Amino acid sequence: MSNLLYQQKHGLTKLNDAERAEMNALCRGYCDFITKAKIEREAVVESIRLAEEAGFRAYQRGMELNPGDRIYYNNRGKGLMLAVIGTDSIDAGATIVAAHIDAPRLDLKQNPLYESEELCLFKTHYYGGIKKYQWPAIPLELHGVVALKDGNVVTVSVGDKPEDPVFTITDLLPHLGKDQMAKTMAEGVQGEALNVLVGSQPGAEEKEAVKANILQILNETYGIVEEDFLSAELCVVPAFPAREIGFDRSLIGGYGQDDRVCSYPALRALFDLKSPRRTAVCILADKEEIGSEGVSGMKSRQFDTFMEDICVARGGTLRVCFENSICLSADVSAALDPTYPEVSEKRNAARVNYGVALCKYTGSRGKSGASDASAELVAFMRKIFDAEKVTWQMCELGKVDQGGGGTVAMYMAERNIDTIDAGVPVLSMHAPFETVAKFDVYMTYRAAKAVYNS
Ligand code: MN
Ligand code: MN
Repeated sequence: MSNLLYQQKHGLTKLNDAERAEMNALCRGYCDFITKAKIEREAVVESIRLAEEAGFRAYQRGMELNPGDRIYYNNRGKGLMLAVIGTDSIDAGATIVAAHIDAPRLDLKQNPLYESEELCLFKTHYYGGIKKYQWPAIPLELHGVVALKDGNVVTVSVGDKPEDPVFTITDLLPHLGKDQMAKTMAEGVQGEALNVLVGSQPGAEEKEAVKANILQILNETYGIVEEDFLSAELCVVPAFPAREIGFDRSLIGGYGQDDRVCSYPALRALFDLKSPRRTAVCILADKEEIGSEGVSGMKSRQFDTFMEDICVARGGTLRVCFENSICLSADVSAALDPTYPEVSEKRNAARVNYGVALCKYTGSRGKSGASDASAELVAFMRKIFDAEKVTWQMCELGKVDQGGGGTVAMYMAERNIDTIDAGVPVLSMHAPFETVAKFDVYMTYRAAKAVYNS
């Protein structure tokens, strides 16, 4: 009877001591990674640092590539592609794991700085799907760059060091919140109310003395003037380091885990490879949260260019390589939340601690943006996951009519690459502080390894 029934179990009880130690070491590295990498640019910098430690070197077109070679390509500081060259012909296809390193946040508008009632603030425009009411009255950091006309790029990172100040968005006190509290949660905090408080001290100027003083500080610190905001990319993100959650420390809380919680295991699994049969490729894409658009998103031909360069160096053809490749679109899924079970269909919901969650159907079917892996591909994944002792589960994002979210999967499938979604189940996805289980991070690492070795 036991062979006939499909039954799943809580994963943590299955681990031996060695596996538990490996899981904890991976998760320590992961917490460090997401604490350092709050925006995609920082994720690229930190990933390159780790990759170089693991023997990867920057790829330049025309470089000779041999089996076992370890290369990376930095796409404009916002996306990263890495490969370990396989022993087989590149026409036998690549094994690809694709994740994204951008996350929901607040971007500064291009004319952000203003003074009102002798307080100085930044105007913001949200990036990705946020619940706006979650952002006021929490500590915030500022990260990004200011690109100057002379070609210099100034890096900004304020709030992540213990001695730094932080910023905040103010909210109404409950005593005066009667009208606000009567609104829906979508309307209670408007996009134009997400103004970040950055100062209150007047300088010597007559007019807008507080703003003038802030500009003076910015000029002394970064050498910038107000007009330079026009060519800046400055992001407001939560000021929390990643932390263990629970008396048993089995969970991890932190900002931007969608999708760095898949990016980091995908990287680490690639670093572990020595000389794979097929060429193993990891792509960390930008712009997933706003539709994978732009030169650093998964729609960009930069990925095809990188792959074509490898094909040329290995004497293969891109279209043949893609036709024989497989891709794990490594992105998070929604975990069954005991407080909100009504949005999930329990038989097909991802559960915390049940391992990496595979999704055959992604997105809202019947609308654009949906993807659907074939039964044959799912069977292939079952085979390689079971062979590599990956604990995994099959899931759907929520109840059929509740909506659904997209991933980069469809852009890989469009390239004629067999693609399936899989990743870590997340509680409070897209919130300033998201929660995952260490076990599921560990199993996503093993899943990536199984794909690279397939
Ligand atoms: Mn995602
Ligand atoms: Mn997302």
